[in-house]
Amino acid sequence: MIQSLLIANRGEIACRIIRTAREMGVRTVAVFSDADAEALHVRLADEAVHIGPSPARESYLVGDRIIAAAKATGAAAIHPGYGFLSENADFAQAVLDAGLIWVGPKPESIRAMGLKDAAKARMIAAGVPVTPGYLGEDQSPARLQAEADAIGYPVLIKAVAGGGGKGMRRVDAAQQFGEMLQSCQREAASSFGDDRVLLEKYILSPRHIEVQVFGDTHGNVVHLFERDCSLQRRHQKVIEEAPAPGMDEATREAICAAAVRAAKAVDYVGAGTIEFIADASEGLRADRIWFMEMNTRLQVEHPVTEEITGQDLVEWQLRVASGEPLPCTQDELSIQGWAMEARLYAEDPAAGFLPSIGPLTAFDLNDSMIRCDTGVEEGGEVSPFYDPMIAKLIAYGSERDAVIERLSDALLRSVVWPVKTNGAFLVKLLADPDFIAGKMDTGLIDRRGDALMPPRIPTEETLRGAAWRLMEEAPERRPDLPGFRLNASVRRTAVLDVDGTRAPVDFTEDGERWFMEVHDGRVRVTENGQTFSIGFARFDGKAGASAGDGAILAPMPGRVTAVDVAAGDTVTKGQRLVTLEAMKMEHGMTAPFDGVVAELNATADTQVTEGTLLVKIEKREP
Ligand code: ADP
Ligand code: ADP
Ligand code: MG
Repeated sequence: MIQSLLIANRGEIACRIIRTAREMGVRTVAVFSDADAEALHVRLADEAVHIGPSPARESYLVGDRIIAAAKATGAAAIHPGYGFLSENADFAQAVLDAGLIWVGPKPESIRAMGLKDAAKARMIAAGVPVTPGYLGEDQSPARLQAEADAIGYPVLIKAVAGGGGKGMRRVDAAQQFGEMLQSCQREAASSFGDDRVLLEKYILSPRHIEVQVFGDTHGNVVHLFERDCSLQRRHQKVIEEAPAPGMDEATREAICAAAVRAAKAVDYVGAGTIEFIADASEGLRADRIWFMEMNTRLQVEHPVTEEITGQDLVEWQLRVASGEPLPCTQDELSIQGWAMEARLYAEDPAAGFLPSIGPLTAFDLNDSMIRCDTGVEEGGEVSPFYDPMIAKLIAYGSERDAVIERLSDALLRSVVWPVKTNGAFLVKLLADPDFIAGKMDTGLIDRRGDALMPPRIPTEETLRGAAWRLMEEAPERRPDLPGFRLNASVRRTAVLDVDGTRAPVDFTEDGERWFMEVHDGRVRVTENGQTFSIGFARFDGKAGASAGDGAILAPMPGRVTAVDVAAGDTVTKGQRLVTLEAMKMEHGMTAPFDGVVAELNATADTQVTEGTLLVKIEKREP
């Protein structure tokens, strides 16, 4: 068995890996950037090595420094986590060349699955059903248009090098094709350095079904059943579950067998996921499920599989990397119960899901109730440099309905402040009747639109009502009334949660009185000698990207990836001016009103600090 392990990652996945390594008696080495000097994963590891400045490309993406850190600390193996260098075949090779163990598949397997077109071609050869479409080398716009016409609309254009939901465009009609192709190629070139695309039939009523596979160095490959990841926002998963609702045994067997064939076709070793897309217009049927891509790493949503199989996938990874055979045969694996994961993002739904950064004054996920995998802690900070996912809440039980309720309950009780999260949005999503009935597809969130938006702030009326209800319960005994919870056992900052909307309050005990400090407004209630003063504060996030005076400021540190206007240009309200990439997301900065570009300070491919003036628009009467 590996004796020591360097984890080339950060955040929740680094903490997750450290937990299992520790349980197995494996010494752990963390790496960290400037921004992460105080981070949880650094504290949890036995040792930690500083590898560079905050931007990932200067630290977590610098393979040489990571390998040097492993050498310097005597680590025997490197676990890449997910994201960052996990699917970088050159890095995997460099790790092996340095005489270290790579906790992952062979570099050739990563390469084989790295580009979507080559991967699909290989899968066709292995007899795995793939989404109908065009994979050809001829990338001329005329040929692509002709192929799209032949496939029939809607068509999905995908960057062959794409990932993370980027580099995809849905085209609904032939006349849009040219424009969508160009914009997809532009994004692909800037994000992946490769503008080649493939075309796929856009599946209507699509459900994202994926299968966990595992291989070892003795030629064994098993699957650990499926997960359903159909609840997505902008092609990014938000809630995942296992098993998939409505999956019958025969269909399960068919796709799990296809997944094992796919893994065997690339000689797969370690943890991998075969992603399928299903046309669920008439339920899940084996002849309507197609291979989409393979992720050659541990997946973000692996915990739901762990819960229903009772296995620890990180332990499996470490055993396989040490040369041991898989801990279980296929026959020894079965599904027990139901599991669901919600991804808690530091982002503000009310501000277009803009990442929300800053100190975590209050952070309490009540992790005694359900499993929480997180990489942050109270008193820590959400930095602007990395992915905004701060935690995963994973509920498990015997019935799906009860699991949904448990997850929703845990989200309602969780306290994160003043950083904003998608928590209330997730609670609304979990209450969606179609979702509860298992009738979802990847378009559900988009279709619901504003209906899933939590109200921005509780009304005074609501708070007053909450105050009255609060009095009926001793505040130190966390009241558990429907729709209202106060998470406060004599702590200075609490979050008042009214019907899924949170308002932070300061909460102090003053003799007989319970006192809640108010910032903006105040509701005072007295009864039976007890006085409650409940207040609510408006915590507006960072100044919006578009100030009323036409000054477009960078809402957070990031990199300007595109500048779409020139000084002196006439622009119309809503027109995109600059694209900023921050926290792995692209943010389009748009014109707040009609006018002209009076000042242009943004240059493509440059780093900017928060508050930098990017563009100034001056009003112009038409
Ligand atoms: P996939 O859908 O391909 O399985 P996952 O959701 O498992 O992707 O995440 C894969 C990678 O994408 C992870 O490395 C994760 O860090 C990264 N990722 C997650 N959220 C985002 C995001 N908001 N923007 C860009 N990348 C992200
Ligand atoms: P990425 O590498 O970015 O994860 P995928 O190929 O896995 O890209 O696709 C991401 C998501 O896009 C899928 O989970 C699914 O929601 C949607 N999608 C992909 N292909 C199709 C398709 N042919 N039809 C409909 N939706 C699709
Ligand atoms: Mg994918």
